[in-house]
Formats: sequence, C-alpha cells, structure tokens
Amino acid sequence: MSEIAENLAKIRENIKASCERAGRNESDVTLIAVSKTKPIKCLKEAYDAGVRDFGENKVQEIVEKYDKMPHDTRFHMIGHLQRNKVRQVIDKVVMIHSVDSYRLAQEISVQAQKRGIEMDILVEVNLGAEETKFGGGYEDTIQLFEEISFLPGLKIKGLMTVAPYVVDSEENREIFHKIWELSVDIEKRKLDNVSMNVLSMGMTGDYTVAIEEGSTCVRVGTGIFGERDYSPTNQKEM
Ligand SMILES: *Cc1c(COP(=O)(O)O)cnc(C)c1O
Repeated sequence: MSEIAENLAKIRENIKASCERAGRNESDVTLIAVSKTKPIKCLKEAYDAGVRDFGENKVQEIVEKYDKMPHDTRFHMIGHLQRNKVRQVIDKVVMIHSVDSYRLAQEISVQAQKRGIEMDILVEVNLGAEETKFGGGYEDTIQLFEEISFLPGLKIKGLMTVAPYVVDSEENREIFHKIWELSVDIEKRKLDNVSMNVLSMGMTGDYTVAIEEGSTCVRVGTGIFGERDYSPTNQKEM
C-alpha cells in the first residue's frame, strides 16, 4: 500500500470512530482530500484509494489539474476566490466553499446563469475573529444569507469555516459548536435557495472534533499527502 493509501485508511477509521462517538452516520461525512501544491501523481494515488473529492485553493491549479484527472473527480474550491476568476472555475468545480461577500455571490450567479447551471456554494464564516482570515461573524453571516438568497443560479448549501490553528484540537470545539448553532439558526429562517445540509469544517489537526460537533465535510490535506512544499522549485513543476 502507498503511503497516501495508508494515511487515507487511518483517516477513514478516525472518521468512523468520531461518527460512532457522536451517534452519527458515517455516510453523512464527506472526506475532501486537499491536494493544493501537490502533483497529479499524488492526486491519482488518492483517487486509486477511492477518493473522488479534492480541495484546491487556487484557480490556476484547478484549471491545470482538471483535465488530467478522471471524469468523475469532483473538485471543490476552498480558497479565497477573486471575482474576475469565477468564470474560469465555474464549470470545473462542484462546490465553492469560500463565498464571503455579496459581490462574489453575485458574480457566481451571473456566470452560472450564463452556463445554464446552478452552482452549489457555502458561505465562509469566521467566528475565531482572526483578522488575517476571510469570512464574517455571526450577524454578518446571517445578513449575507438574507441578501444572497434572492440570487438566481445559486444553491446555497451551508457554511464553511477555517478554524484557528491550534495544537490541541479540543480548543476548537466551542467554535465548531457555535457554527453548528449558527447553521440551525439560519435553517429556521427558511430562506429561498437555502438548504443547510453542509457544514464544511475540520482540517488535519481538528477533523475528529469537528465531526463530533456536526461537520458534514472535512478538508484534510497534510494528513493525507504530507507536508506541503511552497519552495519556488516545487511551484514551477505544478
Ligand atoms: C490547506 C487547507 C486545508 C487543509 O489543511 P491541512 O491542515 O493540511 O489539512 C483545509 N481547508 C482550507 C481552506 C485550506 O486552505
């Protein structure tokens, strides 16, 4: 077994155990393999080990990798997205996790309508209040849902968050729980185009806690593919 396949087996076991602890169904949690900066060879290894959902945070990388992967590969845009790049990824991703403004949602709506599709999106929320991160707070997020629920061409599926980096995953439990509460709160408002089915939260350091707090979608990179190499030589090979 390759190292990637071994890592995946371990992570799937952990996901199963977390679901059992929380009394949840394993099939309610999707594992997204975050393959940013990693070469196609690694994505294919994960694919061969059963992964179909891949997370990327750069438009350029999605465009380059899209044609090189089998047709049933599902790419997720999980990084900050600029409006002028929506056009390039709209037909290559199954979901945009990182919608953090009305203007971005509006551009996705325009581009989706041009192609006659409905795009699944999540609204990024940031309850850790770290200023370096994207996403709004509790009230801002509710307001954004109300504003974008009128836009055609979108299916608003839920919330996404990047929790603070912590050494002990327990430190993020409260944030995950609050985001779950926010999700329930928004669902009660019965907005058009909004179904709160997806909670995209949990990364390598904290996905087990995130699942215990209601995550339906964990985004794991390092835990599957190992450390990322951001040196210039690696970037050239992409
Ligand atoms: C890189 C990234 C991840 C994966 O992080 P790991 O700690 O390597 O698991 C998840 N979500 C987002 C938005 C990312 O940018």
